[in-house]
Amino acid sequence: MAFRMKAVKNIFPKVPTEIAAFIFVICIIPTIYFFELFVVVPSFYPVWSVWYTVHFTCGTFLMCNITSNFVAIVCTNTSVKGLLLQSKLQPKWHFCSVCESVSPPRSWHCDTCSTCIIRRDHHCMFTGCCIGHYNYRFFLAFAIHLFIATAYATYFNGYFMWDRINFQTPMALLKIVFPLAMVAFGIDVSETQLYLILFLITIMGMLFMVALLIFHTNLIWHGTTTYEKNHKIRDYDLGWRQNFKDVFGENWFLACFLPFAQLKLPGDGITWNTSDVWQMEGPKNR
Ligand SMILES: [Zn+2]
Ligand SMILES: [Zn+2]
Repeated sequence: MAFRMKAVKNIFPKVPTEIAAFIFVICIIPTIYFFELFVVVPSFYPVWSVWYTVHFTCGTFLMCNITSNFVAIVCTNTSVKGLLLQSKLQPKWHFCSVCESVSPPRSWHCDTCSTCIIRRDHHCMFTGCCIGHYNYRFFLAFAIHLFIATAYATYFNGYFMWDRINFQTPMALLKIVFPLAMVAFGIDVSETQLYLILFLITIMGMLFMVALLIFHTNLIWHGTTTYEKNHKIRDYDLGWRQNFKDVFGENWFLACFLPFAQLKLPGDGITWNTSDVWQMEGPKNR
């Protein structure tokens, strides 16, 4: 089973900070896409020239992957709801007092989602949902594409903004440090200031994605989740190769570039091989 879709009513976040973060993401990504392809790139190459078309195609490919992975994160059901769980507590299972049912190994309750999440990693405020067994690969593919897109955009934006800002004046420094205040207080509401805001958001997005990818690569490498790392649980490290397969499936390349490919993950999210059994007996429960 590659996909478990959520009911439509559960897709949108309910907490005010998450609603704000969600709206910010779904507005800023297309804004930067249009800014890059219809303002920045045409300042370097004539529209529909060969190089413009190359950058337009690459930018659109990244945009399609970012958007579809975002949709897949939000729409994939990674909760224990709807799963047939046994009523008896088995080793490494626990009882969730909120759900009033047994919960499989690596599954933890999320208060915001009001359910136990299979192989719960964390609750993502930008998508307003939990990242768990079934949507982790979309979350990582989203972060990879967003990193490539923001790095790509930062390269172009750097050249684009260089000629537009006079770095000799102290005012230029204020505009860079307090870009939003300049617009909010009406000190500078020029086109250039708006471009500068988009440039700075792109740089911050790129740095955030670098930190996120380093953190999660380290987690996957050691076969752990954010919760398990924080609680020093090291039971599920099957070696880096198998750890990556557990997250992306056998066809990791397709998983990264084709978000809607129906790819099967090796595990069911309920039964897990532990490192000690894996080392002694090889794959079980697969
Ligand atoms: Zn629960
Ligand atoms: Zn959650």
